Amino acid sequence: MNGFKRSRELFDRSKDVLVGGVNSPARSYSPFPIFMEDAEGSKIYDVDGNEYIDYSLAFGPQIFGHKHPKIKQAVERQLERGWAYGTSTEGEVELAEMVVDCFDSIDKVRTVNTGTEATMSAIRLARGYTGRDQVVKFTGGFHGAHDSVLVEAGSGASTHGAPDSPGVPKDLAEKTSVLPWNDHEAVKELFEEIGGEIAGVISEPVFGNAGCIPPKNGFLELLRDLTHDNDSLLIFDEVITGFRVSMGGAQEKFDIKPDLTTLGKIVGGGFPIGMFGGDSEIMSHLSPEGDVYQAGTFSGNPVTTTASIQALKTLDNDNVIEKANKKGNKIRERLRGELDGYPVRIQGLSSMFSIFLREQEVNDYDDIVECDFEKYNELHRELARMGVYLPPSQYEICFISYVHSDQEIDETVHKIAMALEKVL
Ligand SMILES: *Cc1c(COP(=O)(O)O)cnc(C)c1O
Repeated sequence: MNGFKRSRELFDRSKDVLVGGVNSPARSYSPFPIFMEDAEGSKIYDVDGNEYIDYSLAFGPQIFGHKHPKIKQAVERQLERGWAYGTSTEGEVELAEMVVDCFDSIDKVRTVNTGTEATMSAIRLARGYTGRDQVVKFTGGFHGAHDSVLVEAGSGASTHGAPDSPGVPKDLAEKTSVLPWNDHEAVKELFEEIGGEIAGVISEPVFGNAGCIPPKNGFLELLRDLTHDNDSLLIFDEVITGFRVSMGGAQEKFDIKPDLTTLGKIVGGGFPIGMFGGDSEIMSHLSPEGDVYQAGTFSGNPVTTTASIQALKTLDNDNVIEKANKKGNKIRERLRGELDGYPVRIQGLSSMFSIFLREQEVNDYDDIVECDFEKYNELHRELARMGVYLPPSQYEICFISYVHSDQEIDETVHKIAMALEKVL
């Protein structure tokens, strides 16, 4: 361990020119963020020459591990042919065909640049399509950083104490109803009251920005039934779960067909992307077929599209999801075994896991706020010193890639136990 001297120096420099020294609040943690400069496979390397087993994986996209050779080669080949045309390309058609093939609920897609753009546009489409304004989300659900969803939002918004952001017009915030996740009664009541005004419900099928919280039995079915009966749209935000839980997302695993799906993170193979899609009739309301406007200079950018196509091929050819799911099972099981008797709760699904610093199960946002966040910060730091990099907040999920080795998992579990021994 070489210490964090250069990271500290860079943070001092960055504070002068970047707000809080970062470009995204989710990267901010005390006393200063570790600056990374290289990554390969399951490892990430910082500017002081320290090496870490990475469980943040760029907040999710790198299920392939870093610098996957096939994705790298595909991008290099595309660079020879240029990287931004602002025109139609064959690649964007091929990518759309692949996504449509994977998701039963999707006939047509629109490619954008981030998950934020995807959910923002999907919500606009839901409002435009239904002619209604009200949108429903869940407490602690994070769907990117735009006005309609920055109401009781999770992820960095919760970590940094701004789940309701100033700057979101009050009139607009009132158009977002917020309910507790996994609460059947609350959803039923709201639909009884104002079902006819609801344009759509947006939810992750597995909660992923207040730690990892799987849905309770029947909850997703309830959302499907109530939206259907009230002519509202069900939007599954699969930015984390899409191409992770299965090739057809969490909707395939839970066998629920939403009206609209948003994708991001993994689907770009590590390059910035977002997508949203649904059945042709709904999607036909989007410009230029319909009049719900959405556009983007870099949408379907050839480099991103190339990375994306190769990412989806790699998922398929290398059985990435199945292998990563096995690693996920393994690390959760091993952690539960090793940490028996500690006041921690290991939860998760697929290639996701959360280490909650509390004993009871975490079922919704109210539960996660009971966890010990200061101790988590200490745990994060302590593990970094030991060469294990977790995401910097308990709201963020730990991810595992298909290239993490069993030996690395064993080493990680052992180190987590040692670090907890120190901080608890
Ligand atoms: C990360 C995330 C987003 C936002 O995606 P960006 O690419 O960061 O804009 C939206 N929804 C969910 C569920 C996410 O995890």
